[in-house]
Amino acid sequence: MPATQSYWPLVMDSLKNQVSGSNYKAWFSRLQFVSTTNQGRKLILGVPSLFSKKYIESKYRNELKEAVSKYYPQVIHIDFQIQKPDNDTEVPIQQTLVTDNPAQVTAVTNTEQSEKPLSHYLPKKSLNNLNPKYTFDGFVVTRNNEFAVNVIKAVLDQPGTLYNPVFIYGGVGLGKTHLMQAMGHKMIEMKPGYNIKYIPSETFVNQFQFAIQKRRMDEFRDYYRSIDLLLIDDVQFLAGKEATQEEFFHTFNSLQQLNKQIVITSDRLPKDIKAVEERLISRFECGMVVDISSPDLEDRIAILLDKVERMKLPINKEQVTLIAQHVTTNVRELEGALNKVKAKLMFSQSGSLTNDDIIAIIGGNSSQTSSFTPSYSAPIEHSPDKILQSVCKFFNISKADIIGAGRQKDIALARQVTMWFYKNELEMSYPTIGKLFSGRDHTTIMHGCNKIDSLLNSDSRFKEKIEIIKNLVRAS
Ligand code: ADP
Ligand code: MG
Repeated sequence: MPATQSYWPLVMDSLKNQVSGSNYKAWFSRLQFVSTTNQGRKLILGVPSLFSKKYIESKYRNELKEAVSKYYPQVIHIDFQIQKPDNDTEVPIQQTLVTDNPAQVTAVTNTEQSEKPLSHYLPKKSLNNLNPKYTFDGFVVTRNNEFAVNVIKAVLDQPGTLYNPVFIYGGVGLGKTHLMQAMGHKMIEMKPGYNIKYIPSETFVNQFQFAIQKRRMDEFRDYYRSIDLLLIDDVQFLAGKEATQEEFFHTFNSLQQLNKQIVITSDRLPKDIKAVEERLISRFECGMVVDISSPDLEDRIAILLDKVERMKLPINKEQVTLIAQHVTTNVRELEGALNKVKAKLMFSQSGSLTNDDIIAIIGGNSSQTSSFTPSYSAPIEHSPDKILQSVCKFFNISKADIIGAGRQKDIALARQVTMWFYKNELEMSYPTIGKLFSGRDHTTIMHGCNKIDSLLNSDSRFKEKIEIIKNLVRAS
């Protein structure tokens, strides 16, 4: 088994916790690890059919990405390969590793799970799990993270003694993982012999449970007690897992007593992590607690300018400002906007984008619509397909979803929006629209259009969304 494959059961386990049992069985039980390429940046997964590939991509993209990123933080792309199943049995995953209770775990030790050596779950000493992308070089220091960066840099000079642990907290996508891993890379440069490990706390949970199940706790403890710099990411996942917390407490104490540096991240303050033992919380608080806050406009512009230069994107400061004004949530979303810009540029014949192109790109992100004011409202070009495509893009769903029978709320809304456009912009009759929507009755179309009219009259944010879709149609 290649080393990279050893984490796959943990990804499956994480997915199992995220989706309902029947959906897991239907869509994930036959998902298989095939290989990684591009120095581990691309992960190829095997699926039993094109249909399941499409379904996973459209419905579970985020869940899959999230589970993969926990155990393969260096993966940027996920690709699928259609594979005939070897047999009809499910992929053997760590199905028993869903509980945190050692008693329950040991009770199922004798399942048909193969006797995989524990080392598969405890990667070699030389493997630090750091993503090569997350260095200080690529990390823009702005007011929102400056203090955290200074603390980390000070600790790099005096590891284990100055502040131990360092606890970094802040919302998602603000750079906690990046900063923590940048520290790991810097430490390797400064102390090449150091044993550095980046461990998402969920990995710790799963490794611990596996070790208990296989009665290999000695190996587990040796592994953790020999670390010089332990980077534990997203510690909030230890909530409610008492046995793991107990073990983590001991790991923590041993490392701290040996003056080994520990850095922890979390999406909230130690005291706000519910269902974590008081003594562990007080351990977290005994070093230095720092936050990374949301970047303000100036910070966002600085981050974008840095990334635009690195990505060599031909967009100007005004366009960067436009993005920074509308993408306000976090750095991950800023990166998402730039990736869309890059994709759009690949198909642009002029090799550059106008401000309206940029607006259309930002508008495609429905979470960013609140402060968006459409710049103009000219009539849109007559093309049902362009409308359909733009609605799909805006809601991030497929054409088949819109035409089909799914009743999910966002799909139903997207469908009604499309009907409304056909009626109001293309002046189609209700029966004609009905025919385009799998032969739906004209009263259904009428009802859909009326619903959109009433939303337009009562909800100004919804009105903005419709304007954005119009802009998307114009830009397409
Ligand atoms: P978190 O762990 O807080 O959820 P991440 O560290 O995963 O956030 O950051 C999300 C994305 O944003 C990553 O791709 C990261 O490289 C990027 N990022 C975050 N903060 C910065 C920054 N200050 N400079 C450059 N890139 C950043
Ligand atoms: Mg993170």
